[in-house]
Amino acid sequence: MALNKKTVDDFSAAGKRVLVRCDFNVPLKNGEITDDTRIVAALPTIKKLIADGGKVILCSHLGKVKEGPNEKESLAPVAKRLSEKLGKEVKFVSDYHVTGEEATKAVAAMQPGDVVLLQNTRFRMEEETKPQKAGEAFAKELADLADDYVCDAFGSAHRAHASVAVVTKYISAKGGVNAVGYLMQKEIDFLGNAVENPVRPFVAILGGAKVADKLNVIDNLLEKADTLIIGGGMAFTFLKAKGYEVGNSLVDLEKIDYCKEMMAKAEKLGKKLLLPIDTTIAKAFPDPIDGPIEVSVVDADKIPADMEGLDIGTKTQTLFADAVKAAKTVVWNGPMGVFENPTLAKGTIAVAKALAETDATTIIGGGDSAAACNQLGFADKMSHISTGGGASLEFLEGKELPGVYAADDK
Ligand code: ATP
Repeated sequence: MALNKKTVDDFSAAGKRVLVRCDFNVPLKNGEITDDTRIVAALPTIKKLIADGGKVILCSHLGKVKEGPNEKESLAPVAKRLSEKLGKEVKFVSDYHVTGEEATKAVAAMQPGDVVLLQNTRFRMEEETKPQKAGEAFAKELADLADDYVCDAFGSAHRAHASVAVVTKYISAKGGVNAVGYLMQKEIDFLGNAVENPVRPFVAILGGAKVADKLNVIDNLLEKADTLIIGGGMAFTFLKAKGYEVGNSLVDLEKIDYCKEMMAKAEKLGKKLLLPIDTTIAKAFPDPIDGPIEVSVVDADKIPADMEGLDIGTKTQTLFADAVKAAKTVVWNGPMGVFENPTLAKGTIAVAKALAETDATTIIGGGDSAAACNQLGFADKMSHISTGGGASLEFLEGKELPGVYAADDK
């Protein structure tokens, strides 16, 4: 899918109030930001709007806000860090109501090029549009602060929340522009091209814990990719479906028929579906997860009944790496084993290394595989690491993301 949505390059923000939905959901420890990747990722769009001479009003959620508004989930640390990164003041509206008198006053006082950050959007329960009507009212309050709207929050784009999607309706109603930011544009270009218009051979690699979490991803990628590789915990349900003994490995009994269906589908479509041919086993899941563990490697059809498969084996590492070498496009989501443990991270490292060494376009679909790439030092070797785990998965499922859909067409 080529991006056919208006972007920040399609309009000038000069003299206009532009509401920008960012993804500032950064990890915090004792009030300090431990990883500012998401803030850095938002800078190009913000800088463009400042350069236009726009009045830039930023908003975002942070955390889950389960217990209601609280200082621990305030966006104050983000305002501070953003201010340092931009080299200019970011005026923070600390009001837990997000919109309202304080926000209105701050916006009214803005000069072209000024930046204001509103409080955590999830401090208003209506953000998650439950009940629907309340979400609409909050979306309108947000839209009332601005003339135009830009969504650059890819990590939230799969949620039809007030500040992500509903707000666009009220911006349109007053003749404003709804566009996507540079970060969204980049994500959609990489993920969209990979899935809809890949340079072939296209190899998709899926791992992680459960088959049930990725049913539609498997289905869609089987159709789109030339080779689908399955590793991680989810491979054992496939192996069980082949009639193998998998011992105490992670198996989703309810999904065995689904796996059989997928294997038949691969055959019918003439696609390669690669499963582990050997596995690294141990007596039990490591406890603590990164503690010492005694392992051995057996063929995938020789797992003893009292053992558990926790990583792909050495032969499988080579099998998967060879498939990556032959590819021109690779998409990867989900670790190959319990990568949190150094002894069980070898399969994930082997796959990350194969991706790092190929000239193919390599795309990492967020979440644990992105964390693994960062942790292993391979991040700068990948063509694209998605900033949104859930959003990129829905993209790989072939779904239209509400945050993208809501933007104006070109
Ligand atoms: P996210 O949804 O955050 O993007 P992900 O899709 O990359 O994550 P998950 O489905 O959350 O991956 O699964 C990751 C978890 O799967 C890791 O914590 C890892 O330890 C676990 N895992 C991988 N292989 C196995 C295995 N063989 N047995 C048990 N757990 C496993």
